[in-house]
Amino acid sequence: MAGFFKSLIQRFTKPDIDWDELEASLISGDLGPRLALQIVADLKSRQRTLHGADIVQVAREHVRKILPESVPALEPIPGRPKVLLIVGVNGTGKTTSTAKLAHLLHRRGHKVVLAAADTFRAAAVEQLTVWSERLQIPLVKGPPNGDPASVCFDGYEKALKTGADFLICDTAGRLHTKHNLMEELKKIHRILGRKDEESPHEVLLVCDATTGSNALQQAREFNKAIPLTGVIVTKLDGSGKGGVLVAIQQELSVPTRFIGLGESVDDFQVFDSKRFVDELL
Ligand code: GDP
Repeated sequence: MAGFFKSLIQRFTKPDIDWDELEASLISGDLGPRLALQIVADLKSRQRTLHGADIVQVAREHVRKILPESVPALEPIPGRPKVLLIVGVNGTGKTTSTAKLAHLLHRRGHKVVLAAADTFRAAAVEQLTVWSERLQIPLVKGPPNGDPASVCFDGYEKALKTGADFLICDTAGRLHTKHNLMEELKKIHRILGRKDEESPHEVLLVCDATTGSNALQQAREFNKAIPLTGVIVTKLDGSGKGGVLVAIQQELSVPTRFIGLGESVDDFQVFDSKRFVDELL
């Protein structure tokens, strides 16, 4: 993203700005059409001698206003497990992020249980099994093609029985059966609600930064089926600009909570909006 804004500065150094080109550039930076239009309108209304640095400054002000200064921390609930449902499209980094988040909480001294609720994809269950063994974090899984809601239910029982602070459920993400997927998530929500009516306490959508504005569309669809409480943006170590997290916050008021910066379990951070804006521009 930083590179993107540097290139903006270099390209728009003259007062005679090509507004369409500027708008297209902002959209291609994944900030989304709505914010791009607002920034362009703001710049037009300030018709002074504009140059690249002004554009960056105006864009920065807009992004700052949209992103919350801090994000809610993941604190345990006394006496019962806090349930985190990890949702998202296959390939975005859902299973890896589930393991990374479990590792982060485990390192903070919390007791964690994992539930492999993507029962339709043997590879996902195998992958989570490997992570659970490597990280020494207990995993609950069901039979192949079993009911994902029942895996989450069993996960909850185990977490409760063993006094775990967190239950993290990795869910399925097959897009070609979108209707079924969304119904499955609603069912998981219902079944977990039977154990604790506030559960799942967090529903975190995993988005791949390299897919650009597709992530906004995914956030809209998941949020319709099951209200999201946060986003995990992955692959920010790649070519992804991450601007889409600003668009998701602006349109859906869903904050980014964590970011993924690589394939290793430690390549994971709590999202820091100040740092993001500073690095962005
Ligand atoms: P899922 O299908 O959504 O569960 O996705 P996976 O967790 O299996 O991840 C898909 C691929 O993305 C794997 O090769 C991961 O190692 C990789 N991956 C996940 N998160 C990141 C990240 O933050 N950065 C990079 N570079 N790769 C990631």
